[in-house]
Amino acid sequence: MGNSIQDLPKAYDGLLSVIVPCKSEAQALPIFYAEFLRVMKEMGNPDFELIFVEDGSTDNTLEILRTMSKEDARVRYISFSRNFGKEAAMCAGMKYSAGDYLTIMDADLQDPPSLLPQMFAKMKETGCDCVATRRKNREGEPKLRSFLARAFYKVLNSTSDLKFTEGARDYRLIKRKVADEIMKLPEYNRFLKGIYEWVGFKTEWIEFDNIERCAGQTKWSLPQLCVYSLNALTSFSTVPLAIAAIVGILFCLLSSAAIILLSIRQLIFHNSAYGWTSLVCIIFFLCGLQLFCLGMIGQYAAKIYLETKNRPQYIVSEVSPNRKNSDQ
Ligand code: UDP
Ligand code: MG
Repeated sequence: MGNSIQDLPKAYDGLLSVIVPCKSEAQALPIFYAEFLRVMKEMGNPDFELIFVEDGSTDNTLEILRTMSKEDARVRYISFSRNFGKEAAMCAGMKYSAGDYLTIMDADLQDPPSLLPQMFAKMKETGCDCVATRRKNREGEPKLRSFLARAFYKVLNSTSDLKFTEGARDYRLIKRKVADEIMKLPEYNRFLKGIYEWVGFKTEWIEFDNIERCAGQTKWSLPQLCVYSLNALTSFSTVPLAIAAIVGILFCLLSSAAIILLSIRQLIFHNSAYGWTSLVCIIFFLCGLQLFCLGMIGQYAAKIYLETKNRPQYIVSEVSPNRKNSDQ
């Protein structure tokens, strides 16, 4: 089928830009770099540029990147003025890349570079513009996190017109034209997995087993993941707003009916006002519901607010001297 490495003297023509967001990855970087070079060698040493995006690290990631880029001209880096998050790092990496093909991978080898030959083979075979990856399972991940992740995909898929694949990684191989379209989108709040779906293009999927991080620790806490999920949900679906409105109307109708009923009872039997406990429960329930709906609306209002401020997604404080393209 042309998938084996021997069949591919050079897996691709042109330049591959590899974007690696890094936040405090000093431990993982040398391991990543060695593994990446090994894979490139296997692929017949094609042209590539490694673009590390240093995202407000608290360890000596930046120093390591400086040394790496001094020693290897194919290594470039962009350093943010503070932590702007992985989405911003991926976006910056795309903007600074010059390749005909682009791929984004984590520094901890959880997105194995060894999949690249297979990804290129698939692209050639099918003529697709994008090869995406998804994890088959979530082994080794905390149970609560897996559960919440599954629930998140269910809610997202049922409230959005787009189809989101569970276990999808940010790790993809895309052609330049896909990246160009993505970069045209001006929005500040980004959820790249959704944006890939939104821009379309012919996409093929590759599955792989979950791999534990090679060194260091995850940079995502549970609250951060919750905020990320809420952002994703409100970025790609306005259904929660509609739900809030429908639930509101339903409760108005119900309570109007109840008021009419109570008034009739009062008029006929003169005994409508009893059961304070249940009344308080209902009040609390309705207050909760209102707050929930308000909160949902608030989320969208906050998004509009952030977009209208028109702030940049990130601020760059340092760029490696050996950059290829010279925009900014
Ligand atoms: N990362 C980043 N900025 C952040 C958080 C994470 O650039 O604010 C990078 C991190 O260095 C890693 C990748 O994003 O290369 C994925 O992060 P991590 O492995 O911590 O996430 P997990 O795999 O646990 O979901
Ligand atoms: Mg990871």
